Amino acid sequence: MDFDQKTDLNHVQDNLLEEVSAENKITDSTILKIIMSNSQDTIYFKDINSKFIANSKAHAIQFGFEDTKKLMGMSDFDFFPEEFAQAALRDEIKIMETGIPILGKIEKWVSPEGKCVWFSASKYPIFSDTGEVIGTWGTSRDITSLKVTQEELARLNEKLEATNLKLQKLSDLDGLSELFNQRRFHEVLEENIELYRQKRELGFKNTFSVILMDIDGFKLINDKFGHPMGDRAIRFLSDIIRKNKRENDICFRCGGDEFAMILLDTDINVAKHVAERLCKTIEQSSFIFDDNEINLTISVGVEDYQQDESIAKLLIKVDKKLYMSKEQGKNQVN
Ligand code: GH3
Ligand code: MG
Repeated sequence: MDFDQKTDLNHVQDNLLEEVSAENKITDSTILKIIMSNSQDTIYFKDINSKFIANSKAHAIQFGFEDTKKLMGMSDFDFFPEEFAQAALRDEIKIMETGIPILGKIEKWVSPEGKCVWFSASKYPIFSDTGEVIGTWGTSRDITSLKVTQEELARLNEKLEATNLKLQKLSDLDGLSELFNQRRFHEVLEENIELYRQKRELGFKNTFSVILMDIDGFKLINDKFGHPMGDRAIRFLSDIIRKNKRENDICFRCGGDEFAMILLDTDINVAKHVAERLCKTIEQSSFIFDDNEINLTISVGVEDYQQDESIAKLLIKVDKKLYMSKEQGKNQVN
């Protein structure tokens, strides 16, 4: 295709469909006319100086022209901001230098009215019959609505993630005490058993401990003062546990009147010390319910995690210690 033929591209569009032959065969020039007149993607041809030499109807309309010939000799600089037009020119120079097309490049254009338009643009070199590069041609598709949908989707996904995170957090919590629940207790144990196994492989000797606590004579308190007072007692105790925990301690209500604490990087001796202090603090605290001053005590079992133990074995160990505390008169730590 030489330059004269190219400039004819605009001309042929004017005689749309006239050249369809009697046998209903479609000629090359009719195909060209159909494409240039009807394609919703814009199509343009530019000379070696990146000036328009042929344009599809959609391309002219995009720039506010009905007549495609009006665009002849104009360039991106007549329509787009300097920066946008320079970037397009750089691409075209590169295509003409290398002969390599640019496919599906996403371009953003903000109109003078502030409207943001997204394009997916492909540009190709035009070769003469003798193989020289004599210009570029390209197509571009307005993908603004697709982009808007994608952005909206991304926003919704972000929202969904935040909601899921919130739900996840809520589903980890016990509703009454607002401490983590029993399910989370098992998850944290599992996570830490794996974590400490990996740490041991790196030569790290520390372990973690579990404190198990159970309110003494809670059934009696419930029976005497009623269930709402029992609930109040559970919240009261949870608050004390929460206030007295150290930064790396994780607290749980394991159901009923049973509570647990996981103490990271803490062996049994330190954990027992923590448990004794908590036991004392609870013993010395009280709250008022219906003019009654209520005192609670707890019995406590403490154990630390030994290498390669299962969760079940660890929990049996600590449960036995709690049982010992109950057996030996309650309000104590074993
Ligand atoms: P022990 O000293 O041996 O632990 O005696 P206890 O009376 O505390 O016995 P146990 O721990 O077996 O009893 C737990 C009681 O806790 C039984 C149940 O009525 C009560 N309970 C369990 N969950 C709740 C709750 O959510 N709210 C209230 N108010 N009571 C609960
Ligand atoms: Mg109890």
